[in-house]
Amino acid sequence: MTSGKVLIIGGGPSGLESARCVAELGGEVVLIEKRERLGGTPDRESYAKLTHHWRDASEAMAEMAESVTGNKKIEVKYSAEVKSISGEAGSFQVQIEAGGIAESIEAGAVIVATGFQHFDPGRATQYYNYYSFPDVITLTDLEKMLKENKVVRPSNGETPKKIAFIQCVGSRDRQIGNEYCSKVCCGIAGKQAIELREQIPDSKVMIFYIDMRMYGYWENEIYWPAQEKYKVNFVKGVISEVLKKGDKLLIRGEDTTMSRPMEVTMDLVVLSVGMEPSAGTRAVAQLMGIQQNKYGFIESGGAGGLDPVATSRPGIFVAGAASGPSDLDDSIAQAGLAAARSLASIRKVMA
Ligand SMILES: Cc1cc2nc3c(=O)[nH]c(=O)nc-3n(C[C@H](O)[C@H](O)[C@H](O)COP(=O)(O)OP(=O)(O)OC[C@H]3O[C@@H](n4cnc5c(N)ncnc54)[C@H](O)[C@@H]3O)c2cc1C
Ligand code: SF4
Repeated sequence: MTSGKVLIIGGGPSGLESARCVAELGGEVVLIEKRERLGGTPDRESYAKLTHHWRDASEAMAEMAESVTGNKKIEVKYSAEVKSISGEAGSFQVQIEAGGIAESIEAGAVIVATGFQHFDPGRATQYYNYYSFPDVITLTDLEKMLKENKVVRPSNGETPKKIAFIQCVGSRDRQIGNEYCSKVCCGIAGKQAIELREQIPDSKVMIFYIDMRMYGYWENEIYWPAQEKYKVNFVKGVISEVLKKGDKLLIRGEDTTMSRPMEVTMDLVVLSVGMEPSAGTRAVAQLMGIQQNKYGFIESGGAGGLDPVATSRPGIFVAGAASGPSDLDDSIAQAGLAAARSLASIRKVMA
């Protein structure tokens, strides 16, 4: 039977924005989120401040969540996952499990907004000793400390004075099969470097990069202020390994501008880990029979390549990081488009 409802899978920034837009356009929504909370990865990983506008991440995610939970046209189901789907555009029958109870949902269209997960820096071919040295941490580990305004060396609880970021960990790496750029990690490292210099004014912060990829507002809001106002040192170089030297960390690599080997000791090393499809994105794509690209993200673009929210199955759309690395601006823009396209596809069937 034809249904006017849109099923949205994932309650992160993309799913929340899609839900809000569908409701504003007069549609009805069932949003299912596998956690017990909305707000997606920024909430789960306790991000500190968000670019742009430097907003408190918890506050921004709470605001997005409220616009959904307070809307009568949107039903939210927590601890919920899809188990199977049948039917076609206009009349999908979806079996879900919410809080351990099986349910059946009729939906005219589906938006997949199941997001990303961070690259596991312990994976083979990485020589940065994340799992061996406590003072080697990731961007997300540092977000949590910045949020508490308590950045310490996990090994001894002392305030770090020399901090290095290593860029492109798990991205742009042919050996591990992730040739793509994760898009956000240059901007996030720059943002965190600024926050570090604010919270620990006598610290020295270095960012080791292959190229800095700062697009749009990241350039003026982060890249230039980080260097000019906050004196963050950007070094073009390839870091081959992180070793122990007494109670410090020794970074070894090549300064590619000077074409010479380089060694520096640090108190804290931050790995700028990239984005990979979340387990939920991989599972939902398979369950729904929608195409994934070679990295496991959901293939989007449609037949002509100009429809960034279309999947290979009519009536099923994708938004945000489920289709590839994206920042909040990209995710939210796609979410609005997915909302409009899902309602349009339902109306086409009903006409
Ligand atoms: C360290 C770090 C800091 C960042 N800071 C910024 C920043 O300051 N500014 C910025 O613009 N961008 C930032 N980003 C990028 C930002 O996190 C993403 O753009 C954004 O989270 C993408 O939103 P999303 O909703 O697509 O995915 P997610 O945030 O990953 O949300 C996906 C949601 O889907 C749910 N889900 C997954 N599988 C299922 C399933 N099977 N069933 C039901 N639900 C499911 C998840 O639980 C989650 O709630 C940062 C990224 C990193 C790595
Ligand atoms: S955004 Fe920067 S750190 Fe991230 S993969 Fe691209 S170039 Fe590397």
